Amino acid sequence: MWSLDEELALRHSAIEWLKIRSDDGAEPLTRDEILDFEYRGQKFRLQATQTGIWKPRILRAALSFQTVFRTPGQARPYEDEVGRDGLIRYMWRGDDPLHPDNVGLRFAHEHQLPLIWFIGVGGAPKKYQPVCPVFIVDEEPELKRFVVAPMDEEAFFLRDRTQDTVMQGTIKRYISRETKVRLHQPVFRSTVLRAYEDRCAVCNLGHRQLLDAAHIVPDSDDRGVASVVNGLALCKIHHAAFDSFIMGISPDHVVHIRPDLLEEIDGPMLQHGLKELHGSNLMKLPRARGERPRRDLLEVSFNKFLNAEAS
Ligand SMILES: [Zn+2]
Repeated sequence: MWSLDEELALRHSAIEWLKIRSDDGAEPLTRDEILDFEYRGQKFRLQATQTGIWKPRILRAALSFQTVFRTPGQARPYEDEVGRDGLIRYMWRGDDPLHPDNVGLRFAHEHQLPLIWFIGVGGAPKKYQPVCPVFIVDEEPELKRFVVAPMDEEAFFLRDRTQDTVMQGTIKRYISRETKVRLHQPVFRSTVLRAYEDRCAVCNLGHRQLLDAAHIVPDSDDRGVASVVNGLALCKIHHAAFDSFIMGISPDHVVHIRPDLLEEIDGPMLQHGLKELHGSNLMKLPRARGERPRRDLLEVSFNKFLNAEAS
């Protein structure tokens, strides 16, 4: 068994490596890519092969855990398990609190060790968004789950030292922002771009650097589910046009351009990039029917487009 200091050094090294490999958490990695990690000149496995929680035999605490990708309709644990406090829940393995995997995660909690969370975003080969570091900040044994917060070590330790309510409020806002920026956004982006095979739904542009995952109904909206069915892969210009109601997409997947723009004469971007697309069908949709935009969400967004046009 390694000492806690050794465990911590390994964790820091693994987290640093994953951040570089994943472009600071923005890009997903395949299992094979994750297997490339070396520590002190030797390969060191960071991700479980089968089960969710990974605790190497040589360590006392779990090192990582994972959530497998599920097609829409099958909820993912973290989606339906975000508590009122904005923190995410991760289920125990099975029912036994003393299962070695659960003991391993609990040990990480008790000793405040940083962990890695791999979240599946689909694809062949399967890809995972590494979210790290994350900390176990609590356990809810009656509900058989751990409470997880993605946060930097600095903030994590700051959180533990203070009882000040102003500070607690600040930390709470920090955690909810980190969860959004480091977990929900990259997972959403990777899932949507993968489903649209790195192409803009409207114009078929295929350059990942120029693509965004757009929400059909905004994230802040009650209906704005963070799922691929509320997403569209759009190039930067079509994303901005969609968000500002210059362009709308009807529930039957037809592109609409605001009438006053159709009248306007301008350069080639307006002509080819927007006006000529009026009335055409989306050029790219996910192959899997279950991953295509949900009709009711398109309806909500298209009505907003029509209303914006009228006003
Ligand atoms: Zn486009």
